Amino acid sequence: MRTILLAHVKRVVIKIGSGVISNSAGLDLDRIATLCEDVHQLRQRGYEVILVSSGAVAAGKADLGIVGKPKTIPLKQAAAAIGQSRLMRAYKDALRQHGLKAGQVLLTRDDLANRRRYLNARNTLMTLLEYGIVPIINENDTVVVDEIRFGDNDNLSAMATNLVEAQLLVILSDVDGLYDSDPRSNPEAQLISEVERLTPEIEAMGGIEGSDLGTGGMVTKLKAAKRATLYGAGTAIINGRTPHNLLYLFDGHELGTYFLPARDPMAARKHWIAFTKKPKGKLILDEGAQKALAERGKSLLPSGILKLDGSFERGDAVRLCDLNGHEFAKGVTNYSSTELSRILGKKTKEIEAILGYQYGDEVVHRDNLVMNTSDE
Ligand code: GLU
Repeated sequence: MRTILLAHVKRVVIKIGSGVISNSAGLDLDRIATLCEDVHQLRQRGYEVILVSSGAVAAGKADLGIVGKPKTIPLKQAAAAIGQSRLMRAYKDALRQHGLKAGQVLLTRDDLANRRRYLNARNTLMTLLEYGIVPIINENDTVVVDEIRFGDNDNLSAMATNLVEAQLLVILSDVDGLYDSDPRSNPEAQLISEVERLTPEIEAMGGIEGSDLGTGGMVTKLKAAKRATLYGAGTAIINGRTPHNLLYLFDGHELGTYFLPARDPMAARKHWIAFTKKPKGKLILDEGAQKALAERGKSLLPSGILKLDGSFERGDAVRLCDLNGHEFAKGVTNYSSTELSRILGKKTKEIEAILGYQYGDEVVHRDNLVMNTSDE
């Protein structure tokens, strides 16, 4: 029984994959109805529920005569434009049966990478919750281009978990959870019930591809689980096609795979720096600076920087790399790339003489620094 693990949960993000609520013909309204019944039950039990739902492309592609996945980005975006309103309509109709209302929130990664817009999106979601509305988030597929794409809704759901400060992320998938090998080719494959820490060995088990309907396979789900657990939220991957699995999970039944929250979670702001804010450049540090940051919890000073790459402004995120170019941290820089190119390698007391002003001794203050962030 997992009751104890879920005992602290008040707010939950539920990610619903295309493979769960659609079939080759489009949306599966019966499944959506069953899921909304569960959402209603969870709300009755006092949980705040935020949905992250895929399915826009799946709901719209038939109108374009597409079978399987759309082959080009414009076709995908056109399918999403047709399908998103259909998807929302389906949820609204199903939730209305239980006296519930829904609010649509469409996001791009850019919306969350900018701190002001991030806080604004957060306010919108909090207001919806305060008024008892069920927020339904999706990526704003019709306008995103590569640079501002979350890529898949697994990733988006992990960001949303951080955004709304939920204690649990449930990923509803069309598979039962994480297996130690591919269950379709290996009848001996074992479902992994609990993961305490997402080690590289566990990540390697994610090599199993997903269905045709959604974007993500197990790899993207594990990445999402990693991000959510690092923020301090437990993450469950369960089969969303089995009716009422969501309720069984909350009843304490051991189903799917549950990833425990990290023991020393990152604060929401640090998590945002690590995973949402998009790094604009790269700093190569000397060994002394790297050790000072990694082992002694120090801030980064200009003297420890050997080289910089990219063009960035004060306030942007940058990757911090060792001599071999391996990223070991990310941080928010106090100096732009133009300023930094003039002060790198110099002593802090020289900053003002060189630039004519200074924003502080640190290029990256330790409060704006996050270690071990590389996962892509
Ligand atoms: N946003 C896409 C949709 O609504 C789905 C992306 C995904 O499956 O991860 O169809």
